[in-house]
Amino acid sequence: MNAPVAPLPVSPLMDRFARRITYLRLSLTDRCDLRCSYCMPERMTFLPRAEVLTLEELHEVALAFIARGVRKVRLTGGEPLVRRDMMQLVRALGRKIDDGSLDELTLTTNGTRLAEFADDLAASGVKRINVSLDTLDRTKFAELTRRDSLPQVLEGIAAAKAAGIRIKLNAVALKGINEHELPDLIAWAHGEGHSVTLIEVMPLGEVEGDRFDHYLPLDAVRRDLESRWTLSASDARTGGPARYVDIAETGGRLGFITPLTGNFCEGCNRVRVTATGQLFMCLGGEGKVDLRAALRSDNPEVAVAEAFARAMGEKPEKHSFVIDRPGAAPALLRHMSMTGG
Ligand code: SAM
Ligand code: SF4
Repeated sequence: MNAPVAPLPVSPLMDRFARRITYLRLSLTDRCDLRCSYCMPERMTFLPRAEVLTLEELHEVALAFIARGVRKVRLTGGEPLVRRDMMQLVRALGRKIDDGSLDELTLTTNGTRLAEFADDLAASGVKRINVSLDTLDRTKFAELTRRDSLPQVLEGIAAAKAAGIRIKLNAVALKGINEHELPDLIAWAHGEGHSVTLIEVMPLGEVEGDRFDHYLPLDAVRRDLESRWTLSASDARTGGPARYVDIAETGGRLGFITPLTGNFCEGCNRVRVTATGQLFMCLGGEGKVDLRAALRSDNPEVAVAEAFARAMGEKPEKHSFVIDRPGAAPALLRHMSMTGG
């Protein structure tokens, strides 16, 4: 009898700059129940539903990446929690944590539906989540997101905390909108035991108004915070773009994501897949590979491997977007809600 044939070894994904790809951001939908003004216009054109991957296909995509060395999956969107069947995928991926083939399953959410799902998420192995929250002022929240949903978001954050999920709040720093409120937002979050990361607004996709009007470089925010609090650089790194400080007075951690004032690409370990199965190698680039076509081909295994090889060959060294002048067109036509940030 012939000895059983061992499966071919599959190599970990590595790009041409020798960066290992260990982190997948998987968008479940580009749809959203909010309309943050820096993210999308009120009348947003969403991807045609027929083009969106089925839940089974999203699962296959995630498994294909996990088989090639991805250890962390972040579900995102649009708003991942508005996709009706999303908990099935969370449960299925949670089992990959149980069997040791995944280290972390997490998600980025606006929090509006978190109260409903917090217990289920925790039971499925989600230990940490990012919640986007730019202001604690209900009127300002309603203006900024064009929806009066702050109470639901706060309820969602409380439910996640009660379910034992660790929370990081993401706030986009916006000149003339939340810039003077940021210390209060940080103090509140730290008091609740949540860490905070501040983000510079990025020129992705057309919106009403000019993002330049509200662009706030984070070095200015940092100087302002240093005039009130003692900030000490932390060596905490998540493999991502944020740089962290610890704040002595609040006892919490604060991250800064500065795509515009500081390039952070040298250690990039991630790729993004849209809800229609387009694999984007860089948040700041147009380069993409069609995984949906590969998945739906006659020989998906080979086609996906070929798509991965192309993606690794084409992942750029760094992004190059700027938001340096009023009235400039977005650096990319694609909205953040397609690739999930
Ligand atoms: N809907 C979810 C949420 O808001 O958390 C997940 C997707 S959302 C696109 C992910 C993150 O991108 C949010 O923290 C949001 O504030 C941020 N974001 C959206 N558009 C942005 C832009 N143009 N510049 C910087 N951050 C942006
Ligand atoms: Fe929706 Fe998130 Fe974009 Fe806000 S930032 S409109 S919550 S996708």
